[in-house]
Amino acid sequence: MFEKILIANRGEIACRIIRTARRLGIRTVAVYSEADAQAPHVAMADEAVLLGPAAARESYLRIDRIIEAARRTGAEAVHPGYGFLSENADFAEACAAARLIFIGPPASAIRAMGSKQEAKALMEQAGVPIVPGYHGADQDEGTLLRAAKEIGFPVLIKASAGGGGKGMRRVDRASAFAAELAAAKREALSAFGDDRVLIEKFIAQPRHIEVQIFADGQGNLVHLFERDCSIQRRYQKVVEEAPAFGLTPEQRREIGATAIAAARAVGYVGAGTVEFIVGESGSVYFMEMNTRLQVEHPVTEMVTGQDLVEWQLRVAAGEVLPLTQDRIVLAGHAIEARLYAEDPARGFLPSVGRLVHFHLPPESFNLRTDSGVRQGDEVSIHYDAMLAKIVVWDENRPAAVRRLRKTLSSCEIIGVASNLDWLAALTRHPRFEEGAVDTGFIERHETEIAAPPAPPIDIVLALASLHVLLRREEDAKARARRVVDSWSPWHSATGWRLNGDARSVLRFRRGDVEFEIAAIAQPDGVRLTLPKGSITVWGALEEAGELRADLDGRRLTATVVRQANLLTVLLDGASDRLELLDPLALTAVAEAPSGRLTAPMPGRIVEVLARPGETVKRGAALIVLEAMKMEHTIGAPSDGAVAELHYSVGDLVEEGTTLLSFTVAEAGQ
Ligand code: ADP
Repeated sequence: MFEKILIANRGEIACRIIRTARRLGIRTVAVYSEADAQAPHVAMADEAVLLGPAAARESYLRIDRIIEAARRTGAEAVHPGYGFLSENADFAEACAAARLIFIGPPASAIRAMGSKQEAKALMEQAGVPIVPGYHGADQDEGTLLRAAKEIGFPVLIKASAGGGGKGMRRVDRASAFAAELAAAKREALSAFGDDRVLIEKFIAQPRHIEVQIFADGQGNLVHLFERDCSIQRRYQKVVEEAPAFGLTPEQRREIGATAIAAARAVGYVGAGTVEFIVGESGSVYFMEMNTRLQVEHPVTEMVTGQDLVEWQLRVAAGEVLPLTQDRIVLAGHAIEARLYAEDPARGFLPSVGRLVHFHLPPESFNLRTDSGVRQGDEVSIHYDAMLAKIVVWDENRPAAVRRLRKTLSSCEIIGVASNLDWLAALTRHPRFEEGAVDTGFIERHETEIAAPPAPPIDIVLALASLHVLLRREEDAKARARRVVDSWSPWHSATGWRLNGDARSVLRFRRGDVEFEIAAIAQPDGVRLTLPKGSITVWGALEEAGELRADLDGRRLTATVVRQANLLTVLLDGASDRLELLDPLALTAVAEAPSGRLTAPMPGRIVEVLARPGETVKRGAALIVLEAMKMEHTIGAPSDGAVAELHYSVGDLVEEGTTLLSFTVAEAGQ
């Protein structure tokens, strides 16, 4: 076995490989970009080498620098993970030339399967059924259109070098063909630098079923059963499961054997996935082979009890496969859901920002949460927006579906938009529960897959108010402890005391609606006047944003995370957001003894109200910051004067950036 390997990847897959390597006593070298200096995979590895700037083509795609890093650190082998260079035959060859073992198949197999065109021709020769279509070299528009007509509409135009659904267009009639072909070619050229396409019969309501295969260098070849990846959005996988629901043992054996035949035809070694498209009639066609570990490999690991990265390492080190076919058994059912930093409400646009709050439930033999980010990390525009893979296992599919729903409802993400609520809604759909899924599922049920309704507004307002009051009390206590400078205006805030005999008014905004809530301290808590009536509340702030609350005798635990004047309330898997309309409320965050005002969260400056030299009263609005699609007013922390402005309208600022310097007025002035 190896002593040291280099992982040419980042994020959850790099972390996952490091974990297995460590268990096997192998030392690990991580590589990273400037944007990833603090990333978890760097912290986890034994050594780490900086590759270059954030952009992937200047770091994770730099073959020369990766080889150099392996050489410098004395790594013997390189694991490419998935994405980046994992299916790059040149990289596999460059590793070989540098006497490094590439943990993957031979370059020849990567090349053969890298072009969908070549792969199909090869499979046809090997007697593997392929989707009726045209995959010739002649790329003339007339030829392609004739082929489409012969195959019969609807057809699918696919980029030959394709992946991730890019360059793929469905065409329903001949008249639309030319336009769609041009679009597919444009997309293919920009994504893969190769505009060749192939034409396939469009299979109606198909399932995507793929088989995990494994081969060693001694000619042994096995499969580890199949996965169903039919839950897709725009041809990209979202939810994957193993085994495929409803296959008969006979069908399972057949698809496994076909996959093995496909892999044998290209002299495969290592981990690979043979993807099939299965028509309504049950006919199985070869689609493509991925010559690497797949994102969704954990579901296979869960149902077979095997560690596929360990298998990869053993095979690459020259060992025989750990198990023969008859010893590989299938147990239970596993489902994976991909958690992305993307906004379903805005067409699934990637969302960037700081993960202010990130909580995943603890792992167990039933649950894996493969993740490459931590609370506090910055989700950047440079890489894939996947936050985590939530993988559950249970004895059968219905139990696994229930477990997945429950798990998703206890994940918490604040700071970036995510598809968490959307995934939760998807898994609650009755047709998903029945297992009646094909690749058109999401499109067909799009309107029914809606986020869970927010908790009742009175409850949200009560929890938010309680959080604000408790936080104020904490701040007041902290101030009282810092007696050193007790005359300072920082202390003049007549902090609302939960125990005192005080009354205050809290104002919130939710969307366009404003709420005004009177809070009156009472011996047994605080009396809040909410839209639907008054209730008495009390509670306590725990760690990690947890708020234990008693609302008129009803006890509940919620998570409330506050960023400046924005409050996110999470309760039972549903969430809501409120803006606290009180510039003074900001003083707690903006307070800085040095007289600087810092940005409480990353955002864009949309208005500068302060002028240098201007004297202002405590609470006067100075700067308006837009963050998380809301505006936040930064107010003067005390009476004083604006000394210097550091930014202007339109500037993007990081959290903690000094926005302006401020001179605190002398007491009594
Ligand atoms: P990519 O390499 O871009 O991921 P694939 O060839 O793997 O492209 O196909 C991705 C998805 O597109 C499949 O999982 C399936 O949902 C759909 N698809 C592919 N070929 C066909 C087809 N002939 N008919 C209908 N859907 C298809």
